[in-house]
Amino acid sequence: MRSAEIALRICVFQSRAIAENFTMRLLLLSDIHANKFGLEAVLAHAQGAYDQVLCLGDVVGYGAHPNECCEILRDSRAWCLRGNHDAAAINQLSIADFNDIASAAMIWTRNQLSVTNISWLESLHSSLDREADNFQAVHGSLRDPLEEYIVDIRIARYSIARMSRGVCFFGHTHVAQWYSQPAEQQTAPMKTDDFLRGGQKTLDATERYLVNPGSCGQPRDGNPQARYALFDTLSRALEVRAIGYPIDAARAAILSAGLPQELGDRLLAGE
Ligand code: ZN
Repeated sequence: MRSAEIALRICVFQSRAIAENFTMRLLLLSDIHANKFGLEAVLAHAQGAYDQVLCLGDVVGYGAHPNECCEILRDSRAWCLRGNHDAAAINQLSIADFNDIASAAMIWTRNQLSVTNISWLESLHSSLDREADNFQAVHGSLRDPLEEYIVDIRIARYSIARMSRGVCFFGHTHVAQWYSQPAEQQTAPMKTDDFLRGGQKTLDATERYLVNPGSCGQPRDGNPQARYALFDTLSRALEVRAIGYPIDAARAAILSAGLPQELGDRLLAGE
């Protein structure tokens, strides 16, 4: 057998082994929004429990540490998607539809970002499809990866109909939540629940799931704790965790940066 043929056979064997036998433990993060205190607390809390970080976008915008958050993710070799705030920060999305507070924060963020971090944000994609690990990921939805909010079953249905894997992770709403529907029955009733205080769920192989790990840096479900999730791609075990972090420090940094006070206050309320 020629060496090139042997190498090819080994390669095929290895990729089958990865697809069939090996698992990946994902650390799922979303909507960090330049809150380095939330991000650092989550990474410390999850230490040892994951193999790969997957960030579902909105690394920057609102908070006081956009460069630090980009650098932490780069250092972690995270897979990171581009969110609408990340796109706005590099002038690839207009802020005409942003409210006054979000606009003010975005103009401030654009002035802060380093050339290196702008280049990194420019390199990000808005969706990810991992056939071998049977998952997809977007910031918003599969219908509009950047901007659509999946806030109810009616809207979730459009994304489930577009799914090609067993689970699709999403962010953007800042609410830890899941939706599901039987894979072979697109007219079947959908199920949904949230993870207000965290929780565990093993995903059923016969269902398709949309899963939002919640926001690491600006939760909006009334619980101000940072949210993240762990997912085992082989056992399909999902765990969403809600943890405390130095909210007062994140708020103080927003105020001392001259960002709108409301952005600090909302962290206290988790809204
Ligand atoms: Zn966001």
